[in-house]
Amino acid sequence: MLNIPTQLLISGKFVKGEGAPISVLNPSAGTEITQIAEASMAQIEAAVIAAENAFKTWKKTTPAERAGMLLALADAIDANAEDLAELESLNCGKPYLAALNDELPAVADVFRFFAGAVRNMTGSLAGEYLPGHTSMIRRDPLGVVASIAPWNYPLMMAAWKLGPALAAGNTVVLKPSEMTPLTTLKLAELIAEIFPAGVVNVLNGRGESVGAPMISQPAIKMISITGDISTGQKIMDVAAKSVKRTHLELGGKAPVIVFDDADIASVVEGVRTFGFYNAGQDCTAACRIYAGNKIYEKLTAELSSAVSSIKVGTQNEDDVEMGPLISARQRERVAGFVERARTQKHIEVTTGGKMRAGSGFFYEPTIIAGAKQTDEIVCKEVFGPVVSITRFDNEEQVVGWANDSEYGLASSVWTSDVSRAMRVAAELQYGCTWINTHFMLTTEMPHGGMKKSGYGKDLSMYAIEDYSAVRHVMVKL
Ligand code: NAD
Repeated sequence: MLNIPTQLLISGKFVKGEGAPISVLNPSAGTEITQIAEASMAQIEAAVIAAENAFKTWKKTTPAERAGMLLALADAIDANAEDLAELESLNCGKPYLAALNDELPAVADVFRFFAGAVRNMTGSLAGEYLPGHTSMIRRDPLGVVASIAPWNYPLMMAAWKLGPALAAGNTVVLKPSEMTPLTTLKLAELIAEIFPAGVVNVLNGRGESVGAPMISQPAIKMISITGDISTGQKIMDVAAKSVKRTHLELGGKAPVIVFDDADIASVVEGVRTFGFYNAGQDCTAACRIYAGNKIYEKLTAELSSAVSSIKVGTQNEDDVEMGPLISARQRERVAGFVERARTQKHIEVTTGGKMRAGSGFFYEPTIIAGAKQTDEIVCKEVFGPVVSITRFDNEEQVVGWANDSEYGLASSVWTSDVSRAMRVAAELQYGCTWINTHFMLTTEMPHGGMKKSGYGKDLSMYAIEDYSAVRHVMVKL
C-alpha cells in the first residue's frame, strides 16, 4: 500500500503544516489524493533558522564527507524507486513506466554526479602574481539557498537544485510546487535518514503565501527558481532589495529547424516523442517547428499521422505514452491557445485540438500547421501537447525567426549538411542546440537558458560554480 507523505521537514523533524490546507490532485481522474497544509510564517522562519544553524557545521564538512551522503541518497532513491515513481505518476498524471524508467535513474544520477564533481573541482594556479605576495583561489559555499521548484518534474527539479547546492556546502530550504509536493516530501524522508538536521528543510505551500516570505528572509543568500518568466521577475524584485544571488530557469519555446535535406523519418519520430513527452509540459519541448519549403507538406502529413497515434491514458494503462495536463486550469490555458489559433484563416489543426471527454485533465496531442512567425502559437509558451509548424524559405530567414523569441532555452537543427548544422548552431541564441536530435540531457553537461529563459545553469560543473562563490586569498610573504 502506497504511503502518502504529508509532513514538512524542518530542522530534522517531520511536522504538519500549520497554514491553510491545500488539495493535492490526481490529474488523471481530477480527484483529491490528500490535503497537505502549507507552512505557517513561524514554520518558514524556523526552517530558515534551522538551515542557517546547520550551515555552521555543514560548511566545514569535507567534499568526501558530503559526497558520501549524496551517494547514500542516490542509493536510497534507487531502493525506493518504485514508490517514488508511483507517487510521481499519481501526482503528475504521467505514465508510471516513464517515471520509473526515464526519470528515477536520472534523479539518482544527479546526486552521484555531484558527489564525484565536488571532489574534482579545479581552478587557477596559486602563485606570485604580485612580487612578494602569493595569491590563491578558493571556492566557498554561499550559505542558505532557497530553492523553488515547478510541477512538471517535481523530483527531478528537486534533485537538480539539491545536488549542486549541497555538494558545494550550502544548506537548503526547498519548496516544491503546491500542486505536486508528494515526491519531494518522500525524498525528505530519505534525506532525514542521511543528512544532519537542518541541512535540508522542505516546506509546502503556494508561491505567494510560502515562496515569497521564504525568499525574503534575511538569512537566505541565494534564490533558485524554476518556473514562469513572471515568477522569475517577482523573485528578482525581491532579490534586488537585499542583493541576493539568483538562479533562474524560466521556460522556453524551442525552435526545431528542419532543412529540406533532413531525414524526415527521424524528425517525425523525434518530434512525436520530444514534442509530447510529459504531455508537452516541458520547457525544452520540441514545439515550434520550422520546415523548409520542399519538405513542409510531407513533414506536416507524416507528423500529423504519427502524432494521431500517440496513446493517451492514465498512469498504468497498457502502452500509455501520454498522460493528462497537470490541472483544469492548465488545460483551459492550452485549449485557449488552440482556439485562438483556429480562428485564423491560414491555420489548420491537422490532428487533435480537443479536450478528451470524461474525467481527468486530458488534451489531445495537437499539430497546428500553417502557423506564421507572428502568431501567438509561435511566440508564446503553451506548456502542453501542442506543436506548431511554420514554413520557411532560406537559412537566413529561419535563423532570424528562431532567434526572434523572448525565450532562449533549447533549440534543434535537423539537416544532413554538417557545415550548415554547425553554422546555424553557432548563430542560435539558446542555452542548448541539438543537431539531428532534441531533448537529450546528460548530467555532465549544463542545462539553462539565455534571454528571458533565465541564466542559472543546472547540472554539470557549472551548477557547482553557480552555487558557490569564487574568492581570492592573498598572503604577503
Ligand atoms: P510557476 O512560476 O507558476 O511556479 C513555479 C514555482 O514558483 C512554484 O513552486 C510556485 O509556488 C512558486 N512561486 C510562484 N510565485 C511565487 C512568488 N511570488 N514567490 C516565490 N515563489 C513563487 O511555474 P509552474 O507553473 O509551476 O511551472 C511551469 C513553468 O516553469 C513554465 O513556464 C516552464 O517553462 C517553467 N519551467 C522551466 C524549466 C527550465 O529548466 N527552464 C523547467 C521546468 C519548468
